[in-house]
Amino acid sequence: MDTQTRLRALPKIDEMLKDPRIVERLESTPRSIALDALRFAIDQERARVLSGGHEVDVDGIMAAALAHMAQRNQPSLRRVINATGVIVHTNLGRSILSPAATAAVAEVAGGYSTLEYDVESGERGSRHVHVESLICKLTGADAAMAVNNNAAAVMLGIAALARGGEAIVSRGQLVEIGGSFRIPDIMAESGAKMVEVGSTNKTHLADYEKAITPETKLLLKVHSSNFKVVGFTEEVDLVELVALGASKDIPVFEDQGSGVLLDLRPYGLPYEPTVGESIACGVPLVSCSGDKLLGGPQAGILAGSQEVISRLKRHPMARALRLDKMTLAALEVTLRTYLDPERALAEIPTLRMITTPVETVRKRAQALAAAIEVCTESFDVVVQDSIARAGGGALPLADIPTAVVALLPREGNVVELESRLRLGSPSIIARIKEDRLMLDPRTLSDDELDIVAQSLGRICAECHAGKA
Ligand SMILES: *Cc1c(COP(=O)(O)O)cnc(C)c1O
Repeated sequence: MDTQTRLRALPKIDEMLKDPRIVERLESTPRSIALDALRFAIDQERARVLSGGHEVDVDGIMAAALAHMAQRNQPSLRRVINATGVIVHTNLGRSILSPAATAAVAEVAGGYSTLEYDVESGERGSRHVHVESLICKLTGADAAMAVNNNAAAVMLGIAALARGGEAIVSRGQLVEIGGSFRIPDIMAESGAKMVEVGSTNKTHLADYEKAITPETKLLLKVHSSNFKVVGFTEEVDLVELVALGASKDIPVFEDQGSGVLLDLRPYGLPYEPTVGESIACGVPLVSCSGDKLLGGPQAGILAGSQEVISRLKRHPMARALRLDKMTLAALEVTLRTYLDPERALAEIPTLRMITTPVETVRKRAQALAAAIEVCTESFDVVVQDSIARAGGGALPLADIPTAVVALLPREGNVVELESRLRLGSPSIIARIKEDRLMLDPRTLSDDELDIVAQSLGRICAECHAGKA
């Protein structure tokens, strides 16, 4: 049979649209996506026939079209399962919200709300009120506000306090946070002239003192949240910097980074200054992220003196950087949970995952291993000790002891196993170390443990079916 005759067997799109499998899919799939998928599958088959002289495989076209449709019909932004043990995973959405915060988001998203309405007076209210008093209560600050993220908070703080003037910062703190967020660039964008003092490893109070001129409008301190300089190092204490600023009538702004509200040392984590400790040093302005160690939604929190915060609130950039109602709802509930620190540790997922004792994680790893045990023909399964990470550039030196399920496929290879889990539905993200696939239950909920076990069960059943 020649190629042209073979090609005549290619199905028509109109015919395929009548196939019950497609008809069923059309209930949940827009027609345009279905048409694209059918066209794609037919074109692919045509190319295959033209290049290889095969017969047209109609079932193959249908399978390819259905698979393509399913893939195209799923949202681009969707849930995944994080089995990496990296808790504040930047690429996987940083902190996840508590059930209470998630419910609050759904509540205000699906209905009208008190976003800028004062129910008592029946008049216009301020969107700042939902989080301001909570931030003040939790940090001891006199005033506070929240914006889109900490990068925005830093820009707003510098623009409002130092635009057109000089801002002094230590050379040891010219941090890059990721992407294009570098302190020198943010300074430039905020309209302040950066004056660097000290050296990479050491900066003294006298370095700041000497650099102060009539143009100096701000002393900036950036917390080295995502790296550590060790050895022969020295930084100026916040207290000293605040005293210097006060004596010269120059505000101090500390970018605190990860947003630690509770001392995590009792849980075996290294010391990180809390936002409250910074405020207690008398700093007029401190900022932090909402979705790193604080465990809330993406946001930038600004806390400090009445005078500074009201300047920030009045700044034109504040409007451009303001939070939407869904984020405010999540942030308010997350902050409210902190009013009872025990509850915060138990209910805010980031705090819970960071502080879960390794014995508890090991028990969960053993349960997961037992659930996978049915597939021991496919995998060599062991529970072993490993290290989890806070992630998100926070607590960079903290090794969090954890226990993982390590899988060694008996046939095929670990790279293929990793990609099958990642491309499955839902996607399961795991890491490979020393030729084994590592699944860390520290970042998995109980439901997700079941899903991981089921997915592995499916994968090994498919392998057996493939061999049979
Ligand atoms: C993470 C971080 C930022 C940026 O915060 P985002 O919330 O990601 O915008 C800024 N400064 C420091 C010190 C940080 O650690």
